[in-house]
Amino acid sequence: MRLIATALLAATMLSAPAHAADVLDAMGPILATAPDAAAINAKCDSVLGAIQQRKSALEAETGAATIDGTLNRYDEMTALIGAGSGEFTLYQQVMADQARRDAGADCQVKLAALSSQISLSRPIYDRLKAIDATGADAATNLLLTRTLEGFERSGVALDETKRVRVQALNEQLAELGTQFENNIANGRKVIKVQPAELAGLPADFLASHKPGADGKIEISTDTPDYQPVMAYAESDDLRRRLSEVYNQRAYPENDAVLRQIFTLRQELAELLGRPNYATLVLEDKMVDSPAKVQQLISDMAAAARPAAQRDYAKNLQVLQELRPGANTIEFWQTSWLSPKVQQRFYSYNPQDARQYFAYDNVRDGILKLTEDMFQVQIVPWNTPTWDSEVETYEMRDGDKILGRFYFDSHQRPGKYTHANMIPLRPGIDGEPPVAALVMNLPDGGHDTGLMEHSQVTTFLHEYGHMLHGMFGGHTRWLNQSGVATEWDFVEAPSQMLENWVYDYDTLAKFAVNAHGQTIPRDLVERMNKARYFNLGMGDMTQLGYSNISLQFHQNPVPADFGAATRQWRDQYAVVPAPEWVQFQDAFTHLNGYSAIYYTYRWSKVIADDLYTRFEKEGLTNAETALAYRRMVLEPGGTKPAAELVRDFLGRDISLDAYRAEMEHDQ
Ligand SMILES: [Zn+2]
Repeated sequence: MRLIATALLAATMLSAPAHAADVLDAMGPILATAPDAAAINAKCDSVLGAIQQRKSALEAETGAATIDGTLNRYDEMTALIGAGSGEFTLYQQVMADQARRDAGADCQVKLAALSSQISLSRPIYDRLKAIDATGADAATNLLLTRTLEGFERSGVALDETKRVRVQALNEQLAELGTQFENNIANGRKVIKVQPAELAGLPADFLASHKPGADGKIEISTDTPDYQPVMAYAESDDLRRRLSEVYNQRAYPENDAVLRQIFTLRQELAELLGRPNYATLVLEDKMVDSPAKVQQLISDMAAAARPAAQRDYAKNLQVLQELRPGANTIEFWQTSWLSPKVQQRFYSYNPQDARQYFAYDNVRDGILKLTEDMFQVQIVPWNTPTWDSEVETYEMRDGDKILGRFYFDSHQRPGKYTHANMIPLRPGIDGEPPVAALVMNLPDGGHDTGLMEHSQVTTFLHEYGHMLHGMFGGHTRWLNQSGVATEWDFVEAPSQMLENWVYDYDTLAKFAVNAHGQTIPRDLVERMNKARYFNLGMGDMTQLGYSNISLQFHQNPVPADFGAATRQWRDQYAVVPAPEWVQFQDAFTHLNGYSAIYYTYRWSKVIADDLYTRFEKEGLTNAETALAYRRMVLEPGGTKPAAELVRDFLGRDISLDAYRAEMEHDQ
């Protein structure tokens, strides 16, 4: 969850003065059955009013600034922003009609604007700075220190003229970011192909792509077209043509937008006394400087490069069998080669596994895994939902309710098309945290209900974020609840949990086909061998993307964006990008993640490291799982993440497990 600074919100004072203890009342119930956009707008006004009221009260405070008073009220105010941000994101993603989804999106912009105002409020900063935290516990000290540092990074300590400029830059950057992402969303391109060119594609794809009046078939750059064509079309020429338009989405228009974004970010960094934007944005991360990120990328590349070269050799061997005389792998051949290599070297075809992954079984298996692993109970939760397909659960530990959650698992028209976890409430005053998983998984009602193994992994990954939110959702400070840890740590617990769906004993408990047969052990073994293939090549490409994200934010704005991007990418990626690739213009993370795309790789390093203890002590070892729950998940953001890992592993984070993974026998 992140808050992006945007336009100033006209201050609206609300009627009823709120009291610090009624933060839950101010949040109110989740409007699962909101009848229309007006109901969502009204809730938005009410939440904004409650925040605004608290902001004004904090700014007007007099007398001694204290932890129980000032810091508590500040914590509750920002928790309202966080909970509101989650709740209105939910409406935007899941509501049945555009008007209600738009109402959700509009409110997020308003919340972000108010949040930006608060981050520049000198009176609130002065009150927090006046708190004497001597003798307070470590979590409280950490909260206070990080809060003050956050204010300082926002520019609160600058003089009035500079603060006005900072606010203007934040607003402009938010607008440019929206423009950048809209250009990508609207950057869909289409090519026309002869029916014969689609040889290799599955029957259901061909059935849904019939020729038009001119006898040609339209193929778009949207994922449902792009991915199968790049993976299965036998025609190199078709894949090259589609790749060319795909890699020019939002080009050249986004070059101009990015030029402004990078220029304004640099100005912002300098206003705040930093040499560049990468320095500014990294300060509150685990890897806290551009030099350290650069070193991490180099160290990871040193481990991944030999694996990538082995991957390349396997890919090339299969290519030469299929295309005698070929001596290099082209950019548009990698996705197509991958399933062929998996079949050729590991006799693994992902389609063989699908029959064992019916949605209902997978869901039951994942819930049961949590119960067994973490010694909790999961029972139905009776609460209204926004769609009849939404499932609701409550997680208990004996008498204590640890959390409540929604599974909105299946596709619907207009619904968000990816998968994510949305925190809706932190645990407050004995009320448990609440969260939703919004996904797009197969559903027995509308299709076969059979999932790819990669979808099982996605389900467990997102569920891992939710477990983090539930177990960690009972901290004293709402701003340290659950996933409120360093940004570059937050993916680690989820990435680690993915390992369990490669474990035969875990899979055997729920992976059963329609004939009642359990997934065969040798299929799982082949899946595990195939798992390590292309990890090296994939990671080198990801390190290339991490490098692009970093370099744009620590170097002068380049003259030729495409050329700079290809060069930064190809310092790592082993299959170089052709000159027509304009990757930067559709690289959405350049907006939301700016310099910190590396966070995915760093979380992977931590995940591999955390997993070593489970590998040693057993994936179903309840004591290990309990230690993990207590030491890593339950503390939420009450300790620096590096300490959580040290508590669990008994040593500092190391790259050794990542290196071992890259050396894994294929
Ligand atoms: Zn994730």
